[in-house]
Amino acid sequence: MQFCKLFMLHFQENVSLKAYNTFGIDVKTSYFIEINSETMLFELLSDEIYLSHAYMFIGGGSNLLFTKDFDGLVIKNNLKGITIDEQDDESILLNSQSGEVWHELVLKSISLGYGGLENLSLIPGTVGAAPMQNIGAYGVELKDVFHSLKAVNLKTKEIETFNLEQCRFGYRESIFKKEAKGQYFILSVTLRLLKHPKINASYGAILTTLDEMGFRDLTIQNVSKAIIKIRSTKLPDPKQIGNAGSFFKNPEIDEDQYQTLKSEYPQMPSYLLENANYKIPAAWLIEQCGWKGKRIGNCGSHQDQALVLVNYGNANGSEVYSLAMDIQKSVKEKFNILIQPEVNIY
Ligand code: FAD
Ligand code: NAP
Repeated sequence: MQFCKLFMLHFQENVSLKAYNTFGIDVKTSYFIEINSETMLFELLSDEIYLSHAYMFIGGGSNLLFTKDFDGLVIKNNLKGITIDEQDDESILLNSQSGEVWHELVLKSISLGYGGLENLSLIPGTVGAAPMQNIGAYGVELKDVFHSLKAVNLKTKEIETFNLEQCRFGYRESIFKKEAKGQYFILSVTLRLLKHPKINASYGAILTTLDEMGFRDLTIQNVSKAIIKIRSTKLPDPKQIGNAGSFFKNPEIDEDQYQTLKSEYPQMPSYLLENANYKIPAAWLIEQCGWKGKRIGNCGSHQDQALVLVNYGNANGSEVYSLAMDIQKSVKEKFNILIQPEVNIY
């Protein structure tokens, strides 16, 4: 344990990360620290241990696959605080520190009656990681409610503000996962939420679930409850069985490839995109290759959702990675589509 002069920086050494990633992979990091305030963060950025080691920031660890021990410093984000920054007759600007739990922010916004986050209920992880891949579910993405974020430039140690355009959000993508990868720590996120919510219940089983639950009114509270119910039924709970949600992104193919595949596989599901390409559910492609529910050693593809790779208890990260690569290869061979991991692999 080492202490810094100005602020008590409590570094732990040789720490297992098993409890810090939802896959439950038992790797070790040389150093580990939790940051609870901006002051502490800036202190850390000048500390010798930070300056002389590789480092990575983590939130809830729900979009990570560790394939080996981390020879460096893992920084767990615990920055907390939610405020309403501005409001007018139509909307509010809700600001959240990046270490807040995403679903708690969603529940808070719903309890205050502000619309926009209900379809994003029950996504694991922290607010600060949400812009990393422009989290999305049930027909809504973070970008639909995003106003701005503040991030520390890790080279200059300056705080910079990013607006919607500057974040370059795409399907499970942002500037922070691409050009600016590893260059920023996201400090806080501001969202524009509506005082008179516009309900988006057209996706998948939302309406039928509302009906089954006996909810007649289309409110943000009811939509959130329906989505929580669907997700709890369909997705494996990382507390019961290790996973990081969808392992791969849904691929996009062009019209020519779509027509070729559709004639060979008339039952292939697809969604026409604004750019005239087609989104094909990766879960379907994986299932067609025979992977759904298949277990290889300590890991496998989940029996109810082929896209979710699971750790049956003692898997190591390279086993999961190797399974993912085998799945990727067989989808490529059968459909000539290269599915890309959504999960961040270290
Ligand atoms: P982590 O896994 O801790 O980190 C992810 C990446 O972001 C890492 O590269 C990390 O270095 C970086 N990072 C984290 N915080 C910061 C920060 N403050 N500044 C800079 N970099 C940072 N995702 C969806 O989009 N939609 C879903 O519906 C969805 N459902 C899921 C369901 C389950 C059961 C699980 C396990 C995962 C699901 N995910 C989903 C994926 C995951 O929940 C999200 O990607 C989430 O935003 C990750 O948050 P986290 O705090 O756990 O990030
Ligand atoms: P689903 O409803 O069974 O649908 C399968 C796939 O088809 C989804 O990936 C979805 O793409 C696409 N799709 C379905 N209906 C659509 C529509 N009306 N318009 C456009 N695309 C449509 O999927 P699911 O696995 O149960 O997941 C439900 C939602 O939660 C999805 O939005 C999914 O992305 C999200 N989710 C994400 C993760 C993750 O880790 N990233 C994990 C679990 C669930 P999209 O994925 O583009 O929506």
